[in-house]
Amino acid sequence: MAEIDWHARADQLQCDGRALIAGVRTASASGETFEKRSPVDGRVLAQVARAWAADVDAAVASARAAFADGRWADQAPARRKKVLQRFAELILSHGEELALLETLDMGKPVAQSLAVDVAASARCINWYAEAIDKVYDEIAPTGPGALALITREPMGVIGAIVPWNYPMIMAAWKIGPALAAGNSLIVKPSEKSPLTALRLAEIALEAGLPAGVFNVVPGFGHEAGEALALHHDVNAIGFTGSTRIGRKMLEYAGRSNLKRIFNELGGKSANLVFADFNDLERAAQTAAGAIFYNQGESCNAPSRLLVEASIADEFVARVVALSARYQPGDPLLADCAMGAIVDEAQLNTVLGYIEKGHGEGARLVAGGMRMRDASGGFFVAPTVFDGVKNGMTIAREEIFGPVLSVLRFDSEDEAIAIANDSPYGLQAAVWSSSLDRAHRVARKLKVGTVHVNQYDDDDITVPFGGTGQSGNGRDKSLHAFDKYTELKTTWIRLQ
Ligand code: NAD
Repeated sequence: MAEIDWHARADQLQCDGRALIAGVRTASASGETFEKRSPVDGRVLAQVARAWAADVDAAVASARAAFADGRWADQAPARRKKVLQRFAELILSHGEELALLETLDMGKPVAQSLAVDVAASARCINWYAEAIDKVYDEIAPTGPGALALITREPMGVIGAIVPWNYPMIMAAWKIGPALAAGNSLIVKPSEKSPLTALRLAEIALEAGLPAGVFNVVPGFGHEAGEALALHHDVNAIGFTGSTRIGRKMLEYAGRSNLKRIFNELGGKSANLVFADFNDLERAAQTAAGAIFYNQGESCNAPSRLLVEASIADEFVARVVALSARYQPGDPLLADCAMGAIVDEAQLNTVLGYIEKGHGEGARLVAGGMRMRDASGGFFVAPTVFDGVKNGMTIAREEIFGPVLSVLRFDSEDEAIAIANDSPYGLQAAVWSSSLDRAHRVARKLKVGTVHVNQYDDDDITVPFGGTGQSGNGRDKSLHAFDKYTELKTTWIRLQ
């Protein structure tokens, strides 16, 4: 197959940044827009509608009307399945366009956008489409005098507020189960990456989803996002983003209608490598690959590498050597291993943490600087700090960039204590050739997912989410339906 000239396509790209409300592309009520520039090279991609309360009101009214007249919620599950399957097919057939948009919008390598983000989003929508006519309700074992039906009903109007690091996948994890269950939906994408969500909603219309069921309001968090989370006619918010804003979500619910809040928040995941693991090169490759993938902008990135002291020097040397493979490159070239940081503000945040690492006494052993300045984009070298203590800022706070902190431990108990000494609890990994140790340690780690002898193996069939300040929601798997359905009991007395 001929290689795609992504630069040529990027030069021809025309983006529509208007909101999508009630099935129609719509300017913001105020007429205001904001300029969306690409972190790849600084080019202007679109003037995006700057939605605020009036636009959110219109989107919620559209979603509520669609829910109330049952144009989607009352369709047979098998019918909803067909529409969503078609939606998934169309995501794939628009894959190259979506991949290019995603890359230009937030900076990741276009080959990854196509192979991972487009494919995973389509698979997610298709999986929930397939599931919806296979899940049954319950009858409670109440005894012969009663028939108690426990049914799941769609909640109504769902708000999905999503981040910029995997704009399409994070949206799809909410769109799939929310729509499959029969809800209406308003997606508020990040102001840093609004373009693919807008296209997804158009593609859903093309697939036959009735107008008004899936709306997108782009805009800033404290404007469009806050208005959506405070809205009295929204039943639940599926939020993915930072812990700081997750806290606000809970406040917004308290200040408005006590809507349900499902928070999927940040992480500072620990990757525990024991000396008894029999393939340290594979462990090192995974440690480097998982922190530098997506420019380190992954909630579950294993940003704390905990290594048993007896192998630490050798292991760190391997990781440092491997980090060279992730030098940032042009995200529009097929062989790019690491792309651009999402914007200048995030670039400065990452560089600020690198400064802090130096200042607090960690030892820089790889990277540590901005790169490719002349491109007009925002790139950071893959960076490794050794000699990190768990009290240092770079071990405690989420950096959300390609920065790895290496900590050393002497015993299993110490490793577990360091791993659990974090406000976050998203994921962790254990590398050990002892089955006993792997199980023992996995049980004691206070996180939503423990990886054993791998990192980030993943499937739509398994739940994704954390504990502690990493949040409480679970995306993916059938458990996601818990967020977008109400349990209802209908109790019938039998004579
Ligand atoms: P963020 O919290 O700044 O923003 C997330 C979304 O919330 C955006 O759409 C933003 O516009 C909106 N928002 C911001 N302020 C708001 C407000 N006051 N009211 C309502 N909405 C508001 O996060 P981010 O920088 O976009 O994303 C990175 C964060 O997301 C990281 O902490 C990362 O760990 C987390 N994340 C978590 C998961 C997970 O599944 N646990 C997955 C991906 C990303």
